[in-house]
Amino acid sequence: MSFKTEYMQDLMNRVEKNHPAQPEFHQAVREVLLCMEPVAERNPQYVEAGIFERIVEPERAIIFRVSWVDDAGKVQVNRGYRVQFNSAIGPYKGGLRLHPSVNLGVIKFLGFEQIFKNSLTGLPMGGGKGGSDFDPKGKSDGEIMRFCQSFMTELAKHIGADTDVPAGDIGVGAREIGYLFGQYKRLRNEFTGVLTGKGLNYGGSLVRTQATGYGLCYFTQEMLATKNDSFKDKTVVISGSGNVAIYAAEKATQLGGKVVALSDSNGYIYDANGIDLDAVKEIKEVKRLRIKEYIANHPNAEYHEGCKGIWTIKCDIALPCATQNELDGEAAKTLVANGVMAVAEGANMPSTPEAVDTFQAAGILFAPGKASNAGGVATSGLEMSQNSMRYSWTAEEVDAKLQDIMKHIHKTCKDAATEYGEPNNYVLGANIGGFLKVADAMYAQGVAY
Ligand code: NDP
Repeated sequence: MSFKTEYMQDLMNRVEKNHPAQPEFHQAVREVLLCMEPVAERNPQYVEAGIFERIVEPERAIIFRVSWVDDAGKVQVNRGYRVQFNSAIGPYKGGLRLHPSVNLGVIKFLGFEQIFKNSLTGLPMGGGKGGSDFDPKGKSDGEIMRFCQSFMTELAKHIGADTDVPAGDIGVGAREIGYLFGQYKRLRNEFTGVLTGKGLNYGGSLVRTQATGYGLCYFTQEMLATKNDSFKDKTVVISGSGNVAIYAAEKATQLGGKVVALSDSNGYIYDANGIDLDAVKEIKEVKRLRIKEYIANHPNAEYHEGCKGIWTIKCDIALPCATQNELDGEAAKTLVANGVMAVAEGANMPSTPEAVDTFQAAGILFAPGKASNAGGVATSGLEMSQNSMRYSWTAEEVDAKLQDIMKHIHKTCKDAATEYGEPNNYVLGANIGGFLKVADAMYAQGVAY
């Protein structure tokens, strides 16, 4: 797809020039700006107020050294990031990613996506993201703790319950959030809801662990319902085997689907009888081992090296839940040729632009991550509310709210897409639906931001 207006093409050119060598950030901005052309035409006030120019520029980006001592007594140095992208509708909110592939461009793409996602939830949260190129794989608990403490020692200067509230992402789960929270509390001598995804005995919310995966399936269910269909008796392929993938698999199974494949960055497992999720949880959540271990106790299952092959498995529903650009144009063509009816993104930007074009041209249901994986941050928003009230809702209450939020996001996307003449285009609907609230808030607040 190419731009129709000189105005948006010029803006895109400037983003590429001013943020060099950040391909993921360019990719995320390009997708949004392509959807903004009809919005700019109908809303000249946004152009006059420079809303589009401002929304692609982070309000603040913090880069810092994180030094820590490993188990051998050797000093290690990593780089930490926090990009505070947009605070028009609430405090910055978005996860922390620990993975060797992290760099400023990756964090900016994630922070940019977060603006629209958080807006879609209907909750008062701005967009931000952070992380480090630290690789948690193979590190001891002590090393993870010392890294997290050093990381937080600097990050604490820039965050706060009403300023910026980080959470988990790739490589950051309950263990890491615990160490980060403990260090923040020590430094500030205050017990506040400065992080979400906390343990249940110190301010966490029930259902937060499950929320992204569950929410993904609730959104997919809404999409399927528009075709009078559901998860019942559908074959489901899910990439990844982390937090999002595991709980997407759990909910897809509860809704009547059969999940036959999961993966990690080394390879994928295929179990035609349906994946034994308790075994996966034991391998990934308790023992922190590789997905390959699954075949040791499941002789009918197969393990294949390399993660891309997972998309060659015939399925009705595909849920990419690992990482960005994991599903390319070739994989999308294979999925379509194999009769896939719905693809919903659990990860952030897992489908390349070629893959998205392929799904849309084939007329299948396609949900972009900023809509379909918003259940995680939505439940983080609910955790913030519970912390402010110093009160805890039951699992049933949180789950009911999560379902309502995912239905609301689906409706917002559908309504915006319909209003702009492409009722089945969830990418257009999510971008416009997420943008308008933020744009109006920026407009109302004047040009300082
Ligand atoms: P986890 O760290 O729990 O799991 C990540 C999974 O993806 C692992 O199975 C990992 O395999 C795999 N993976 C990571 N990087 C790669 C890679 N380069 N190639 C292939 N596989 C890879 O992370 P989450 O489940 O929390 O996050 C997954 C995705 O969902 C991310 O895109 C994240 O941004 C997004 N997301 C997460 C939310 C949350 O609440 N946690 C909310 C919304 C979106 P391995 O173990 O081999 O590295």
